[in-house]
Amino acid sequence: MAVNGTGPYDPQNVFARILRGELPCKKVYEDEYALAFHDIAPKAPVHVLVIPKGPFVSFADFSRNGTEAEITGFTRAVGQVARDLKLEAPGYRLLSNVGVEGGQEVPHFHVHLFGGRALGAMLP
Ligand code: AMP
Repeated sequence: MAVNGTGPYDPQNVFARILRGELPCKKVYEDEYALAFHDIAPKAPVHVLVIPKGPFVSFADFSRNGTEAEITGFTRAVGQVARDLKLEAPGYRLLSNVGVEGGQEVPHFHVHLFGGRALGAMLP
């Protein structure tokens, strides 16, 4: 079910539980600002989710309330994950769903990183 992208933050959401180590994930990257792991239901050969470590409901929340360090750290981590997965040269897609009409289901800000095949130009 799509969620409200403006909060309040639910500390029991599935990604908060992954961050606390209460649920497993297939981790591909972690640093001070971000955790990246494989999506449980991949929509492309590579489908990784990158999440900030802080309690942000959505991009709307993160862009408004994230510190400069959190925003920079997270953005750099996304780029690092794409490089680590060797997606830079062939290319990849970033996507973040925000709120009910954006189709967001997990109320912790995340970026989907898709790659591993030609994704085409069709959006949404
Ligand atoms: P969104 O609609 O942008 O909120 O997407 C949420 C994504 O989280 C979906 O692609 C789900 O397949 C994925 N997902 C849900 N639970 C898990 C989990 N435990 N581990 C990894 N991915 C998950």
